Amino acid sequence: MKVNNAEMVISAVKPEQYPDDGLPEFALAGRSNVGKSSFINKMINRKSLARTSSKPGKTQTLNFYKIEESLFFVDVPGYGFAKVSKKEREAWGRMIETYLTTRKELRAVLLIVDLRHPPTEDDVMMYDFLKYYEIPCIVIATKADKIPKGKWAKHVKITKETLDLDPADEIVTFSSETGEGKDLSWKILGKYL
Ligand code: GDP
Repeated sequence: MKVNNAEMVISAVKPEQYPDDGLPEFALAGRSNVGKSSFINKMINRKSLARTSSKPGKTQTLNFYKIEESLFFVDVPGYGFAKVSKKEREAWGRMIETYLTTRKELRAVLLIVDLRHPPTEDDVMMYDFLKYYEIPCIVIATKADKIPKGKWAKHVKITKETLDLDPADEIVTFSSETGEGKDLSWKILGKYL
């Protein structure tokens, strides 16, 4: 898919604010700062459409990016932020859970993890949550440019083992710097369209 036309449509906290176009949606889940916005930007060839934030956990809304009038990327606020109150964290949890478990347009979740490190407890929890609700999941192991190519296979293996990845689930080695994994990611998304 060659993408030229992308626009941010809406930031939503409640279902009434979700777009009503009926287009397929792919949600991006991952801890703050893992590279979710950079992933979106690379996928759509933009430098800074999806805001890359230097303040982890600041994005507390679901951001819907409409791509080519054919699908939405939904940037889910990152988990694993320590600085918010328990009340905020609970509200965040409810918002994400409502979206992920009730949204008819959701085709799959892209779980973004850092290839350099084993997935965190939060990553594992999110993966288990998706499996429990039988929500299709694609693992994107990003920041691959930060480790030598010769070590990718070893890191992919650790990622698979830590998540206890279902052999049916796909994992893509990705880099927002080099574009590694971009074509494969579009190919996999294509299966859900
Ligand atoms: P988000 O909070 O998950 O949306 O993370 P961002 O996309 O804002 O990225 C956080 C930081 O990691 C930024 O400084 C990015 O430039 C950097 N980053 C994200 N993806 C990559 C990547 O693939 N390679 C490298 N080298 N840096 C990345």
